[in-house]
Amino acid sequence: MLVVMNANATEQEIAKVVQSIEAKGFEARISKGEIKTVISAIGSKQTDKRDFELLPGVTEVIQLTTNYKLTTRSFQSTDTIVEVNGIKFGDKYAGLIAGPCAVETYEQVDSTAEALEKSNVKILRGGAFKPRTSPYAFQGIGEDGLKILRSVADNHKMAVASEIIDISQIEMFEKYVDIFQVGARNMQNFNLLKCLGTTHKPIILKRGMSSTYEELLMSAEYIMAGGNSQIILCERGIRTFETYTRNTLDLAAIPVIKKISHLPIIVDPSHGTGLRDKVEPMSKAAIACGCDGLIIEVHSNPDCALCDGAQSLYPEQYHKLYTDIKSIAPIIGKEIL
Ligand code: PEP
Ligand code: MN
Repeated sequence: MLVVMNANATEQEIAKVVQSIEAKGFEARISKGEIKTVISAIGSKQTDKRDFELLPGVTEVIQLTTNYKLTTRSFQSTDTIVEVNGIKFGDKYAGLIAGPCAVETYEQVDSTAEALEKSNVKILRGGAFKPRTSPYAFQGIGEDGLKILRSVADNHKMAVASEIIDISQIEMFEKYVDIFQVGARNMQNFNLLKCLGTTHKPIILKRGMSSTYEELLMSAEYIMAGGNSQIILCERGIRTFETYTRNTLDLAAIPVIKKISHLPIIVDPSHGTGLRDKVEPMSKAAIACGCDGLIIEVHSNPDCALCDGAQSLYPEQYHKLYTDIKSIAPIIGKEIL
């Protein structure tokens, strides 16, 4: 952190800033320029820069260190690779996850998985607990849904990814899922993140619909601080003034986050656009800009889906998309297993 003093700051004011910096556990180094004095606070402690901005004689405080540490490339320069059921996310690999928005019945999940098996899907997604905007909308079928996912996935040699919405569910989820999914609405459920940090299964952490990149990484930091670094970040669209699409899929998140962080980042074009016909072009764009994978909603009969049918692909559409992106990926040095 750098504390820049006014051109006419007095020696007492400078001394007071030095004293405050040291009181917070930093080392203070003064550098007197021709016009201004700048005081550097050296150390790795967390601090609130406003505490210094308010001191007499201070013009500006510049925070040099970021608040996220474990998630950054300065902590680890090589890409983290998360591997689930032979599918890899990160570095030169892009992994694919597909399945219905919500688990409805055994037949629905089974027919979807059967179709997806032909497209080499190895990780099945499906929500058993749905965090819906309206309390009157379909909320998911709960633990029965997790049981269905597990049984169908086992029959088709797939792994299971499902959204967890509360810390009280961790023990139950441990029995059925291979990947915990933290949804956009829970990205800043810090208690949940802390508890998941002590688990040993991979976690998909979705970006909150109005969260910045830094906030997403800070949430991942909560999980990593607990000891679990098997995190797959997920860009799923943010809320903007545009209403044509359900969200605005922010693909710039991919190159930005990949530069700052070693964690893999995947894209969810289903929630990112909310429209089935936009899923294919945005999936291709996401792969082309270097994402580490995709999570896509597919339903064996989307016209009758209880949740998000309009953004769910027909299995044939998914198959075409799969073959297309498999040939696009190598162009940018990625492999889809
Ligand atoms: C989902 O993946 O089913 C979901 C609810 O997504 P999000 O948290 O991104 O809205
Ligand atoms: Mn959905």
